[in-house]
Amino acid sequence: MNQISKGRQSFSSEIAVSPNGQKMCSRCKMRKSISEFYQSRNSKNGASVWCKECEVKYHREYYQKNKEKLGKIKRKWRARNRDRAIEYSRQYHQKHRIEQNIKRREYYEKYEKNNEELKKRLKQYRQEHKEKFREKGKQYYWKHRKECLEKTKRYYEGHREKTSARKAAYYQRHKVEYLERKRRWEKTPSGKIYKKRSYERRQALLQQCKIRDFTSNQRRLLIASAEFCTICEKKFSWRRKKFVCYIIPLSHGGNYTFSNMRVLCESCNWKNREALRRATTPDPTSFQPA
Ligand SMILES: [Zn+2]
Ligand SMILES: [Zn+2]
Repeated sequence: MNQISKGRQSFSSEIAVSPNGQKMCSRCKMRKSISEFYQSRNSKNGASVWCKECEVKYHREYYQKNKEKLGKIKRKWRARNRDRAIEYSRQYHQKHRIEQNIKRREYYEKYEKNNEELKKRLKQYRQEHKEKFREKGKQYYWKHRKECLEKTKRYYEGHREKTSARKAAYYQRHKVEYLERKRRWEKTPSGKIYKKRSYERRQALLQQCKIRDFTSNQRRLLIASAEFCTICEKKFSWRRKKFVCYIIPLSHGGNYTFSNMRVLCESCNWKNREALRRATTPDPTSFQPA
């Protein structure tokens, strides 16, 4: 028995692959090049018994015939091995991302773009599951923050007119809430910094002087490296806090630049400001809004 089967195997593999690298498919009985066959570990010449075409056809037919059964099995497996299933589909998506995106877009163009009924349904679904969508979106954002920001930036640069028009419309619609939210945000630490910076920038623009030539890091470094007050030369401590100010104030035409900045203690900062205010009250008529 053993010998017969062994003999048959070698016989069939001899017949199957001819010297010019062709093999007969045992399903469609056609002679095809060996590259037309899937690789198989079980057969001797390393190629499957059926050609690719036949195999794909077979599997497709099998799937169509047993769709429900297979679907059930798959769903069961996915329910039992949730993490693995997610990991698998993630890997698959990573590997076939570009094709998947193209396919998705094609499908959209073909079936969804002009389908008002579907759009309405989707919108309704989104409305009904608002919280879920928001939560998911948040999670995705925090996981892929960098890419998201990049993408948004690119979009804004590409559609500047559209986005600014949309922004203006949004502002008009939500003016009251927007201002309320802004006021609240400006009381937080980062909001305070932002407010100060934008105020300085505006001042500099109004005075038509040089605009900021330093980065936030440089400014931070300047503050961190300062040991003594520039005026009274007293050492900074937790009691004597640091204040960054401009040698020539922006309101007096000073430049919004690194070389115009210095670090003072609180009392010097105050004295300096008072002195400036008394000495030269800026002429309101000289302010020319841009
Ligand atoms: Zn075939
Ligand atoms: Zn001082």
